Amino acid sequence: MTMRLLLINPKFPDSFWSFKWAVSEVLPNKRTTNPPLGLATLAALCPSDWEVEIIDENVEPVPLEPNADLIGICGMGVQFPRQSELLTYYRSRGHKVVAGGSYASLCPENYEGIADFVIAGEAEHIWKQFCTDYQMGIPQTLYKETGTVELVDSPTPRFDLLKLDRYSSVTLQFSRGCPYRCEFCDIIVMFGRKPRVKPLEQVGQELDALRKQGVVRVFFVDDNLIGNRPACKKLLQFLKEYQDKHNYRFSFGTEASLNMAADTELLKLFRDAGFGWVFIGIESPDPASLKETLKTQNMNQDILGSIAKIYSFGIEVLAGFIIGFDNDTIETFEAQYTFITASGIQAAMVGLLHALPKTPLYERLEKAGRLRPFEHDQDNSKLGTNVLPLQMDYDAMVDGYRTLYQRLTTDENIALRMRNKIRQMGPPVFTGGFTQREGLAILARLFFKGIVPGGISRIALFLGTFPLRRPELLALWVSDWITGLSMQGYVKQHFAAANADQGVIERRVAAVRRALAGYLEAGKVTLSFRQPDLALSMKALVDGRFFQRAAPGLERLLKHTRARLTLRIDAMPAQQQEHLSLMLSRLARYGDRVSIIVDEKVRSLIRIDSSVFNLVLAGPEERSTRT
Ligand code: SF4
Repeated sequence: MTMRLLLINPKFPDSFWSFKWAVSEVLPNKRTTNPPLGLATLAALCPSDWEVEIIDENVEPVPLEPNADLIGICGMGVQFPRQSELLTYYRSRGHKVVAGGSYASLCPENYEGIADFVIAGEAEHIWKQFCTDYQMGIPQTLYKETGTVELVDSPTPRFDLLKLDRYSSVTLQFSRGCPYRCEFCDIIVMFGRKPRVKPLEQVGQELDALRKQGVVRVFFVDDNLIGNRPACKKLLQFLKEYQDKHNYRFSFGTEASLNMAADTELLKLFRDAGFGWVFIGIESPDPASLKETLKTQNMNQDILGSIAKIYSFGIEVLAGFIIGFDNDTIETFEAQYTFITASGIQAAMVGLLHALPKTPLYERLEKAGRLRPFEHDQDNSKLGTNVLPLQMDYDAMVDGYRTLYQRLTTDENIALRMRNKIRQMGPPVFTGGFTQREGLAILARLFFKGIVPGGISRIALFLGTFPLRRPELLALWVSDWITGLSMQGYVKQHFAAANADQGVIERRVAAVRRALAGYLEAGKVTLSFRQPDLALSMKALVDGRFFQRAAPGLERLLKHTRARLTLRIDAMPAQQQEHLSLMLSRLARYGDRVSIIVDEKVRSLIRIDSSVFNLVLAGPEERSTRT
């Protein structure tokens, strides 16, 4: 009998990286940034007679009653709460479940009791072994890679199983491992410090597969593409020749270390191969902080000068910054603000220092008793961290972080950074990768959905940054505004003070209560409110009018405040699905703040898109231990 395997990528929590506003409002038909490359690789490693399906919960709902013999669920640290919820749910329904991904690789012990099998480490050999053992009925509970995987053993991912048109770019991997030793980094814990690379023919085959699918924007997800510099140079030459030979323009981007700026030949190769942007871990402009965290490759150079040099080759820079090193003080926030503004980097991902499990930083701080509990301890874009700083009060540091981002995401600062960048930018490699028609549609959506709502002053700043004398920078101008406004939206939503909109929430909740008064009095629904959470429970059957009355008030509550809504459905006749769907379509824009709990007995009657809303699958006990 054919084995049916379902592979699931759980939904990521909303973060800066989601670029939620950009993908939902401005980019055409996109749902998120990148597809789950690991699952597509895993699918290619399965026996040829297995039927494999991939569901990415970031772009489509997970099935509640899957038709599968085995379910594999991957996850990074930030996905662990949802990954464990899905594993528990499917397991409780009698499915065999297998956990994998980077978090399972680092912390396989955390899956005890929630997964039948765990794949820990690079999957190329151990996944194949697991498949063989599973078919023979002798699977082990843990498969741990202890040796070195050569990337020649990594097959072309099954891109055909991904809904590629829903992503703003598609991912590819050339190498694993990085030669450096940044103290906070878990990459080198997983992949080691000796970069291993794929043969170029193999990269060519993967590009062929993407070309056939009409993919244009490709993100090389290597943690440091220049980790093995001679091999990287050969790759870049190969990519240039590939593009010329096929008369095809892939628009590439990647991650690399800052010392790429010192190698002019390398920069030329990047430009000629079609790399329009690079993400760089800059972390700090302060050499003492860099030294402390062993980021030595960023030292002994003028960092602003290095960024300017990369710009001069027409390559856009995105960057990561960290605050909270032992050397950092409250003044560090001002220094980072000044640096980021001068650098012109629009996609500036600033995070508080987080200690990820199994890293040298984690071990050092654990020994020193400087770790604190933190709900989002895998996500450094949240307001808080699991690290107790040395030279700052913790609360003052969190406040400093909030203020820094509020300053960086004002309209004025978005415009100022753009001007600072445009001045230094050479003829850009990045052209957006969209057709002229798509590009105009994106510009129109940006203008009407992003610029106009900001009023006259934003329109003036937008037009003031228009590169009139350099029309080749048009795509960069549009993409910088999209990036800036996306980040501004995230900050407004997540970084405001806890009680900032308390009064407005209370008024909006009172309006919802008035609209539903009849149903509340009849005991058909209950409403409870504890700032900023509103819980609406449907206890008994309601009519279609209920949804019509509830929708406008709930929509206004979510639109004008940062309130969260939990909708609990204990009873609902099947014929009300349409009314429920209409109400949910009005709330979909705020779906990441809407949790929906559907009672077991009506679950088969109700369709909820878990890629839009937080569809709660864990029972109350599991939920309370996780929050
Ligand atoms: S350069 Fe990047 S990938 Fe390499 S060790 Fe440092 S943080 Fe990790």
